[in-house]
Amino acid sequence: MRRDDAPPKTHDRLSRMVKPRLEGLEDRMLLYSATGGAWTQPVRVTYSFVPDGTSIGGPTSTLNATLNAQVPGWQAVFQQAAAVWEQVANINLVQVSDNGAALGVGSYQQGDPNNGDIRISAVPLDTGTLASAFLPPPLNGCGVAGDIIFNSSQNWTPSTGYDLTTVAIHEFGHALGVGHSAITSADMYAYYNATKSYLTTDDVSGIQSIYSARRPDAWTVATGNTTKANAADVSSQLGTNGQASLANLNITAPTVVNWFKVTVPSTTTGSMVVTMQSTNLSELSPRIQIYNAAGLTLTSATAPGTYGSTVTATIKGVVAGQVYYIRTMAASSGATGAGGYGLQLNFGSAAQAPIAPPNTTVANQPDSGGGSSGEHGWGPTQWIHNGPITIGTVTGLGDNLMVSPRIVHHQAHPAGPVKHHHHRHHHS
Ligand SMILES: [Zn+2]
Repeated sequence: MRRDDAPPKTHDRLSRMVKPRLEGLEDRMLLYSATGGAWTQPVRVTYSFVPDGTSIGGPTSTLNATLNAQVPGWQAVFQQAAAVWEQVANINLVQVSDNGAALGVGSYQQGDPNNGDIRISAVPLDTGTLASAFLPPPLNGCGVAGDIIFNSSQNWTPSTGYDLTTVAIHEFGHALGVGHSAITSADMYAYYNATKSYLTTDDVSGIQSIYSARRPDAWTVATGNTTKANAADVSSQLGTNGQASLANLNITAPTVVNWFKVTVPSTTTGSMVVTMQSTNLSELSPRIQIYNAAGLTLTSATAPGTYGSTVTATIKGVVAGQVYYIRTMAASSGATGAGGYGLQLNFGSAAQAPIAPPNTTVANQPDSGGGSSGEHGWGPTQWIHNGPITIGTVTGLGDNLMVSPRIVHHQAHPAGPVKHHHHRHHHS
């Protein structure tokens, strides 16, 4: 059945202008879509791999055993899948450890110190499903928000099975709040129809409609320090111990650099230690270069291809009053080419503690965002959690429109009352 109970979105109207109307199918001819879910603290959204044996609403996850046997280095697949979204949106993604608590348990919808905001697991799902994801808050108000469940019964072997990268990017998109797209080449297309390692412009538009593009940090806004001529002078940030810590910095694209300059303080011990940290802050692969006042490169430090790392460069024999320039950038032009970071300077004798990640804890809240808004009514394509998770009794709603296997499209039927807004576009 066709539903017209929600006002069309701008791109919906646009698609109707440029495409002939197809009877009954037009509601699906959207471009990207947003679900209405978004992380409250996009400055740091964490993800984790649940240990095998973690309870997923009854069945236990075999993520590690399944993928260890099929996809060597599979963790990097997920790291890259997170990084491709981080690169184009004003979000930072960070991998953290996972204590194996049952899915959906805990006190936080975001920032749980025990595991990631987005927890990745694998259990047997039906043959039409590759993976599924719970949408972020406020649609899901508890710890299950953003969690991704892969189908351990599918074949993920690269040469013969489904491409893990393609599906991981798709599920991270849902976990961040992006809905499906009608563009068949988009990662967020609802069906597995090709290998897709990078985002299309439609996917980028989708994530940016939720979080915006990456925004320059306060130093860049204030000084325009993407060129050496506009280098931000951070000398005033040095404490009496000869140290400075600049948090919340941002490389907004692989081609963007940030410039800083510093005058060696009178308290110097004779060495300048410069640290660029994305560890615990983002998936940016960091790179720093140090120049003297004449513009000569003195040293550099780089960690290409890493998903969040920390590099340090040291200049010995510095003298009070000398000016040095620091250039920060991404070490790699690929998926790790943008992200948040911190910069530390140390002219003193004491060690400097790393920059602590921002506090992103948000306590559990009731699921919300449903009702009649229709903002996430693109079909039974992602899971809305309401009550205990009972994957063991999952019932496929199926879909009569397109070929299987679908990436998602099955609804967990909780034991409690079910919100039926996910049926909005269900064709039956
Ligand atoms: Zn999907």
